[in-house]
Amino acid sequence: MYPNYSKAFLDLEDVFVKKVIQADSFLKVFIETRPSEHICPCCGCKTKRVHDYRIQKIDDTPFQGKVVTLVLRKRRYLCTSCGKRFLEHYSFLPSYHRRTKRLAFYVISLLRQTFSLKQASLLTGVSVSTICKLLDTIHYAPPDKLPEAVSIDEFKGNASTGKYQCILVDPQKHRILDILPDRTQSHLADYWRGIPRKERLKVKFFVCDMWLTYVELARIFFPNAKIIVGKYHFIRQVTWAIENVRKRLQKSMPASLRKYYKRSRKLILPRYKKLKDENKQACDLMLQYNDDLRLAHMMKEWFYDICQMESNRCQQREFDE
Ligand SMILES: [Zn+2]
Repeated sequence: MYPNYSKAFLDLEDVFVKKVIQADSFLKVFIETRPSEHICPCCGCKTKRVHDYRIQKIDDTPFQGKVVTLVLRKRRYLCTSCGKRFLEHYSFLPSYHRRTKRLAFYVISLLRQTFSLKQASLLTGVSVSTICKLLDTIHYAPPDKLPEAVSIDEFKGNASTGKYQCILVDPQKHRILDILPDRTQSHLADYWRGIPRKERLKVKFFVCDMWLTYVELARIFFPNAKIIVGKYHFIRQVTWAIENVRKRLQKSMPASLRKYYKRSRKLILPRYKKLKDENKQACDLMLQYNDDLRLAHMMKEWFYDICQMESNRCQQREFDE
């Protein structure tokens, strides 16, 4: 509708506004993302096939004194290789939550400045009861008591301290532990240092993405924790890696051979055992011509084998070999 203003107004990544409903006390903003290619969290194949839509209401930070609800048309994709259905991922919305990360951040920042509930309500136009509901899902205490598992995730918020803020979550109870204004190494180190060592030693699992700073700091400050990087982050890397090998190869190939590689993406990315017989043959033929691609393909298959193993010990052994 207003393609360029949507993003500037809402400051949400990749979202466009379809409709706005105004009232004295509230604003409803109907939003959607554009369909795009997605990587299946199960097998790593790419898919564009939309399965269905659902409507989800999301609370967002107030605007001009009005309570803002985002009405998101949530898209589910269908993986054409393995049949898995999965929801689109939205950077502004943590899984399992019905409010934007920035709203949680906003409420916390107000209460941090020792605003009373009533003051915060006057200031934001959000009713006291709504704030109470919000607080209900935010377990805000500078975590001097840490749970067994801690997960860190980042989001683009509205703090003046930096582009990215971090959110700390108890992934087992789906509760927000704290929100940090900054994800830099020095800030995080200071923050972890402020938590008694005794508490940090209790943490058994630390979940994060592949950002090296998170991993390095976790090793220092949570020496008893297993560092867990979500499977999804690995599958993405594996898919990128094998795609790079294939693209490099296709570029350097004589035209006469290229015809064998026409459907190559669809043949290389899915699990080999799930290909139809004729596609298995086509895949074999393609792999025959190049050692790099054959090796990459073998490693990809091996990686998925490991992912699907039932016992953690077996997985560990495979990785160590
Ligand atoms: Zn799949």
